[in-house]
Amino acid sequence: MTTFADLGISKEVIKAMDEMGWTVPTPVQVAAIPVGLAGHDLFAQAQTGTGKTGTYASIIMGKIRAGSKAPAVLILTPTRELTIQVTEEMEKISKYTGHSSVSIYGGVSLSPQISKLEHGVDIVVGTPGRVKDLIIRRDLNSSKITMVVLDEADRMLDMGFSKDLEFILSKISKQRQTLMFSATMSPDIKRLAVRHMINPEELLVSKDKPVLDLIKQYYIITDVDSKRNALCTILDNNDPRTIVFCHTKRKVNQLTKKMLADGYIAGAIHGDVAQNKREKIINAFKDGSLNLLIATDVAARGLDIDDVTYVINYDMPNDPETYVHRIGRVGRAGKEGIAVSFIMHEERNMIKPIEKQTGMTLEILDLEIIERPDPIIIRPLPPKKFAPAEKRGPKVPYGKAAGTAKTTSKVSGKSYNNSDFKKKKDPDAPASMEINLGCSDKITKGELCNFIVNSTGIPSRDIGSIIMGEKSAFVELRRKDGDNVAADLSDYEYKGKEIKARLI
Ligand code: AMP
Repeated sequence: MTTFADLGISKEVIKAMDEMGWTVPTPVQVAAIPVGLAGHDLFAQAQTGTGKTGTYASIIMGKIRAGSKAPAVLILTPTRELTIQVTEEMEKISKYTGHSSVSIYGGVSLSPQISKLEHGVDIVVGTPGRVKDLIIRRDLNSSKITMVVLDEADRMLDMGFSKDLEFILSKISKQRQTLMFSATMSPDIKRLAVRHMINPEELLVSKDKPVLDLIKQYYIITDVDSKRNALCTILDNNDPRTIVFCHTKRKVNQLTKKMLADGYIAGAIHGDVAQNKREKIINAFKDGSLNLLIATDVAARGLDIDDVTYVINYDMPNDPETYVHRIGRVGRAGKEGIAVSFIMHEERNMIKPIEKQTGMTLEILDLEIIERPDPIIIRPLPPKKFAPAEKRGPKVPYGKAAGTAKTTSKVSGKSYNNSDFKKKKDPDAPASMEINLGCSDKITKGELCNFIVNSTGIPSRDIGSIIMGEKSAFVELRRKDGDNVAADLSDYEYKGKEIKARLI
């Protein structure tokens, strides 16, 4: 069996790995570390959980001398969480080599990050947006960087970071070594590799030997009303460390409130949860004081949490790739895990593509679901607000509904009468909704229509004409549906892209 020493890894790094409990290298480590240490560019198709961070960390520690003034290595990752995790792993692996690392990500104050850069650091780990900003501000000196790692490159492209990546890579010397890791191999990823790497050695680690081997995959056919009962039954039977995936931020919030009201200790993470609160929740989950994490896809992406026993797809993901990413949270580094998908009757056709993607069969979970009443959620009453007398509108005469009086009002020099107003408010009048998905997202009109139907529950007959633009589309709806549909869609993602929709 290959050892870490056989791969050419230094004694200091092996000592740190030993303390981390790593005894044998993973397949991606065996295949990639010697190639990287020999100085070649590398393109590895490796899923999360395969040990890819340890792979590039070993290469970095072997090739880069510690103690730089200006950064020598840049690692780009798609999310803040992954950035933090990678930095933590770098710090552990460099315990005896003395390499220093800093995390650079948005949503928090710039000054601590800048001051760490000013003090001198070897390795910068960051998200593309903030890294680009710091390069433009000249707070991040990219002139001494000799190694670049693109981690989860496919996710970075999915999340719209392509322009930022191009900018950043154009500011780094062409004499560098570039290592790219991606779970999938799309034409866009290939283009990125061709443009920015020199004769990269290609490694395909995950396809023939999926890390999903250790995950037992089950499904239950449910309807909306029985999902929570099914979840509680599973939790009550096993008390597992569980990550539950919901489609939208709102659903994450609603379910978390219900679970808390029902006595479960649950934490919610999604894009609107403040960064420091997210970190607290993730840490609580890591240290075991919280056993139930309810999350959206974006928030949970790249989370490196060991010992997760269950992943529950409370809402099914939109595509098989996201399914694989979700269930990759369990079965990490040689541990067994269970994934349970709550599939609604109309979603049964999702099973086959998932089985094709994973190369494994989903089995029906034999579960007697225990019914339980809806918990009572006590909400604080909103504070009463009284408008000052002069700000209150004119009183509507008693017995006369607002809007029935024949009055006209002047707004910006244009006069409207109430019949115009009524027409605008006609609930069945057509309204146009703009959504930030267009031809460049490789979505057809039919797929867009299906996406809206699946995400919001609106029947397809209530969707009118769709006009596709390059970056956005205009969808005709009834006014009465418009606001809800736009609000619901704005909680969703399509292939990793956060959706923005609004009535115009
Ligand atoms: P990654 O693919 O980098 O997200 O790694 C997944 C998990 O595997 C992390 O918790 C690593 O700490 C762990 N890991 C990486 N390499 C090894 C190894 N050789 N032996 C045991 N665990 C490892």
